[in-house]
Amino acid sequence: MALLVQKFGGTSVGTVERIEAVGDKIKGFRDKGDDIVVVVSAMSGETNRLIGLANDITDEPTPREMDVLVSTGEQVTIALLSMALNKRGCPARSYTGGQVRITTDDTHTKARILDIDEDKMRSDIEQGRVIVVAGFQGVDEKGNITTLGRGGSDTTAVALAAALKADECQIYTDVDGVYTTDPRVVESAQRLEQITFEEMIEMASLGSKVLQIRSVEFAGKYSVPLRVLSSFKEGPGTLISIDNEGGMEQPLVSGIAFNRDEAKLTLVGVPDIPGIASKILKPVSDQNIELDMIVQNVGVDNCTDFTFTVHRNDYKKALAILEQVCADLGAKQVVGDDTIAKVSIVGVGMRSHAGVATTMFDALSQEGINIQMISTSEIKISVVIDEKYMELAVRTLHTAFDLDKSE
Ligand code: ADP
Ligand code: ASP
Ligand code: MG
Repeated sequence: MALLVQKFGGTSVGTVERIEAVGDKIKGFRDKGDDIVVVVSAMSGETNRLIGLANDITDEPTPREMDVLVSTGEQVTIALLSMALNKRGCPARSYTGGQVRITTDDTHTKARILDIDEDKMRSDIEQGRVIVVAGFQGVDEKGNITTLGRGGSDTTAVALAAALKADECQIYTDVDGVYTTDPRVVESAQRLEQITFEEMIEMASLGSKVLQIRSVEFAGKYSVPLRVLSSFKEGPGTLISIDNEGGMEQPLVSGIAFNRDEAKLTLVGVPDIPGIASKILKPVSDQNIELDMIVQNVGVDNCTDFTFTVHRNDYKKALAILEQVCADLGAKQVVGDDTIAKVSIVGVGMRSHAGVATTMFDALSQEGINIQMISTSEIKISVVIDEKYMELAVRTLHTAFDLDKSE
């Protein structure tokens, strides 16, 4: 008998038939004697539909009202799934984030969980009920509805598992685990038996949206055993763990992540003097624009080029700010590009091996793919390339690092 927190994502509860199938699955666990706390997302497409409605009314919806709106998607699925469970003779109760007392800060649309009162849940569990909690939402200290950012139901599930000290947090989705890269892009991608928290955090933050990054950080911090599984087919899924205990030699690269969400800006011909980086970047961050990669070239003739990337949604705003900075600093010009992609290789095995970067750059050059920017950390190497070569680059690197599944 175990206490399991099981999260079902949008596609897994996308239709009434699928909700019924999830009901059957949970009943199966109950019949074996496990205690179950369920977290659900909104039906697939519903959150986007709600955001679309808001955008039909205004370009700048107030974040507070946005949270009231988008949190309704999950309220539908908790009620329907609880009905499906009750119908199966499996007593269940639905709760919104506020009802189960998931308290967050007041940063609407990307709130952070501060506290969870697990007493209420425990008493339901003791009475033999399945608890069905709305993912992605909470309330701030004043009782305002908040949401945790896109994909936030993963974080709700991990937070509940941590609060209840569950035996495992199981994320049921439309793939049967974490793959070496997105299986929708590379057919020969392989399911990983295990991946470390460290690697999964890098994969998620570099673009693999199979888990929300904060859910992985949270699970790592509170040592919550986390597993990604399919809600459609049986199987062991992928365990996200502290160490890779496979006993086998650690692969150099565990996975490849990619994203097309960024844009690149360069300030050309800036005077190469102390304080210049902060003069360029402060006006950008003052406007709440987050920076990702930053590269400054070695100066020639007392001048340097300064390049950084931002989210594509912030591109136009950042470009306008930089034009002003260019004039203020007497730099030569601003060059921008919003047709880039970032491709990254991730693996704890890189730590103890030289030559990984060379293999990566060789493989890309053999396909004639030009690298525009590079950034590295102990367990990842990212490159920025033209977005039209993104899929080719991912497939090429997947093969170069022996990740293709054998026929
Ligand atoms: P859910 O709605 O269940 O939360 P998501 O769409 O958020 O599901 O996440 C599952 C999707 O993540 C998959 O359909 C897959 O296309 C994508 N994905 C991206 N990278 C990976 C990866 N490395 N392994 C598995 N899935 C991945
Ligand atoms: N429904 C929310 C979203 O689409 C939260 C989630 O699915 O995790 O982002
Ligand atoms: Mg998701």
